[in-house]
Amino acid sequence: MEAILEAKQLSHIYSAGTPFEHGALRAVDFTAYEGEYLAIIGRTGSGKSTLIQHLNGLLQPTSGQVLFRGKDIWTDKATTRATRFQVGLVFQYPEYQLFEETVARDVAFGPKNLGLTEEETEMRVKEALGLVGLSYDELKDKSPFELSGGQKRRVAIAGVVAMKPEVLILDEPTAGLDPKAHRDILDMAEEIHEHEGNITILVSHNMADIARLCDRVIVMDKGHVALAGTPKEVFSDEKRLTDIGLSLPPVSYLMHRLNERNADIKADIMDIDAACREI
Ligand code: ADP
Ligand code: MG
Repeated sequence: MEAILEAKQLSHIYSAGTPFEHGALRAVDFTAYEGEYLAIIGRTGSGKSTLIQHLNGLLQPTSGQVLFRGKDIWTDKATTRATRFQVGLVFQYPEYQLFEETVARDVAFGPKNLGLTEEETEMRVKEALGLVGLSYDELKDKSPFELSGGQKRRVAIAGVVAMKPEVLILDEPTAGLDPKAHRDILDMAEEIHEHEGNITILVSHNMADIARLCDRVIVMDKGHVALAGTPKEVFSDEKRLTDIGLSLPPVSYLMHRLNERNADIKADIMDIDAACREI
C-alpha cells in the first residue's frame, strides 16, 4: 500500500514562549495509506483536532514534518496551498461556517477557488450534493439558514467533498446529532469513501462505529500515539484502552467478559451477528 499522508515526529506547542505555553502534540508518527478508512480516537484534549489541522496545513508544526506523497507540505507556499485542496477537512459543527446566500454558492466556494470553470463548478456542486444525500434542484437556491440542522451539516460537508480531496477528514461529524441522523451521516461518509476511493479519516469517540466501519485505528493519548492497528488489534488491548480512559465497543466488552468465564468463547469479536453465533 502506498503511503499518502504522513506525520513524522510531529510536535505542536500552542503559545510557545508565553506563560500559556501548552504542548498539544509530542513526536507523533502516523501514516495514512491509499484508499483506507482510518479512525482517530482519544479522550477530549488528547490532541486529535490539533493533529488533523496539521494534516492540511492549517497549523504549522513546532517541530517535525507532515508529508503528502513524500513531500513536506511546508516546502513552499504553493505546496502548502495545494495541500489545502488535496486534504479536505470538515471541522466539528461545520454548519456554523456556512456563509453564502444560497446552498449552491456555499458548496461552490471551494471548487471556484480551485480555478474550475462555471460549468465544472456546477457539476461538482450537483455531484457533491447528491453524494451527501441532498437534492440539488430542491435546495440550490435556498438559503443555508432555512435548512434543518442535519441538512446544514450535509451542505457543509458537500462543500469539502466538491473539491474532490484525496483525503477527507471528518472531525466528530456526528457530534450533537440524534441516533438516526448519526447513522445517516456515517452511511453518507461510507458512500463517499466508496464512490471517491479517497482516504477517509474519521475522528470519533464512538467505539461501535469504529469497529463497524474502519480499516485501522490510531489511539491518541496526551498528545501522542498510544496505540495503532486494526480495530481487532486495538480493541484486544482492553487494559491499555481503559488506562487511557477509553472503553471497548459494547459487543467487544461483552465478549471479553464471557471469555473470562469460559475460555472457549472467543473475545476478539466485534460484530453482533458473529457474537450471536459464537455464544
Ligand atoms: P481533542 O481534539 O482531542 O479534544 P485538541 O487538539 O483540541 O484535542 O486539544 C489538545 C490540547 O491542546 C488540549 O489540552 C487543548 O486544551 C489545547 N488546545 C487546543 N487548541 C488550543 C489553542 N488554540 N490554544 C491553546 N491550547 C489549545
Ligand atoms: Mg477535537
